[in-house]
Amino acid sequence: MAKRVIVVGAGIIGSSVAWHLAKAGAEVTVLDAAEPGGIATRNSWAWINASWGNPEPYFRLRLRSMQEWRRLDREVPGLSVDWCGGLLWDLPPDKLEHYAVEHGSWGYGVRRVGRTEVLKHEPNIKKPPDFALHVAEEGKVEPLEAALALIRGAEGLGARVLRDCHVKWLEEEDGRVVGVAIDDGVLHTDEVVIAAGAGATALLASIGISIELDTPPGLLVSSKPMGEVLRGLVMTPELHVRQTGEGRLIAGADFSGSPHVDDVEGAAATLYGQVQEIVAGSENVAMNFHTLGYRPTPADGFPMIGRPLNREGLYLAVMHSGITLAPAVGLFACNELLEGKRDNVISPYHPDRLVKASD
Ligand SMILES: Cc1cc2nc3c(=O)[nH]c(=O)nc-3n(C[C@H](O)[C@H](O)[C@H](O)COP(=O)(O)OP(=O)(O)OC[C@H]3O[C@@H](n4cnc5c(N)ncnc54)[C@H](O)[C@@H]3O)c2cc1C
Repeated sequence: MAKRVIVVGAGIIGSSVAWHLAKAGAEVTVLDAAEPGGIATRNSWAWINASWGNPEPYFRLRLRSMQEWRRLDREVPGLSVDWCGGLLWDLPPDKLEHYAVEHGSWGYGVRRVGRTEVLKHEPNIKKPPDFALHVAEEGKVEPLEAALALIRGAEGLGARVLRDCHVKWLEEEDGRVVGVAIDDGVLHTDEVVIAAGAGATALLASIGISIELDTPPGLLVSSKPMGEVLRGLVMTPELHVRQTGEGRLIAGADFSGSPHVDDVEGAAATLYGQVQEIVAGSENVAMNFHTLGYRPTPADGFPMIGRPLNREGLYLAVMHSGITLAPAVGLFACNELLEGKRDNVISPYHPDRLVKASD
């Protein structure tokens, strides 16, 4: 008989987990407190990468997920990954060089480029650097569209999706999670996957589990649509910027979380002014809106994937960099839930390093 799995959360992580489970033949129900598409997900910059600043095991997971994006791109109708490449000079030259040597030795396709080649990749950069790095294999998705394509795909494979369905608590019997409580009562199941982003903390608290999860804010500004001024992803010391499918420039200033700002409007206007100083062709195009997303970030910065405290019937999938990681996490969670096989690539990311019983 097919295993019944409830997935709580239809952001990019829950959507990917649900798609993989439905494809593998599980009886899947996805519940989201709002419309599918997530909270962090819809406010994400959505760069798919295995870039600098991470230890090798985490690089390996990210790189694997970049490969899994290529598989999903082929298999999921309506999904469209743009392998546009990333151009960066957001580190001092000696650190850029260190990154190129280190990641190059790990098999990442980092190329050193000078001013002329920077301009070949991105002709509209106003003050091109003398030294930058280009990674052709990096990409981007429109995050909301990607999550919706996965959810539609899961539905097409038989998953049930309940919208505007807030999970109030997890239901336990004899130490095993057996379902979720919603307004209409308790839905029983064999497994519950918590892919609820920042909402994971409250759900786990309902069965006496506390997790160390931070939710730093992340500000992004979006311009009005314009003709093509950028071809790929651009990471400068001041900001990162790319152009969306609709032609909007979308930019942020910090990957780990913007400092909490009292004056978000003012911070957005300043950031957009910097965009206009960097990208030629944007000077006469106004900012359209800004978003303040909250990154679900485990306290040590790495993902939490697995069964918290070995609790039967329960699986957790919460992380930052979820756009990059969603395809691999969906696949690995599915294999662990249905076949009991845990991939070595996720072995460092068991939730228990940041989880404890709270009573
Ligand atoms: C500004 C910003 C920039 C980012 N840039 C990048 C980037 O460039 N590359 C990258 O890889 N990652 C990036 N990230 C991180 C990435 O967006 C997140 O890691 C990812 O979106 C998390 O997805 P999720 O599905 O876990 O969470 P969410 O998208 O937050 O989805 C969680 C879902 O769970 C639902 N939910 C919560 N509680 C309940 C409940 N009790 N009952 C029912 N439903 C519930 C919510 O309604 C929501 O739909 C960025 C994030 C931000 C904010």
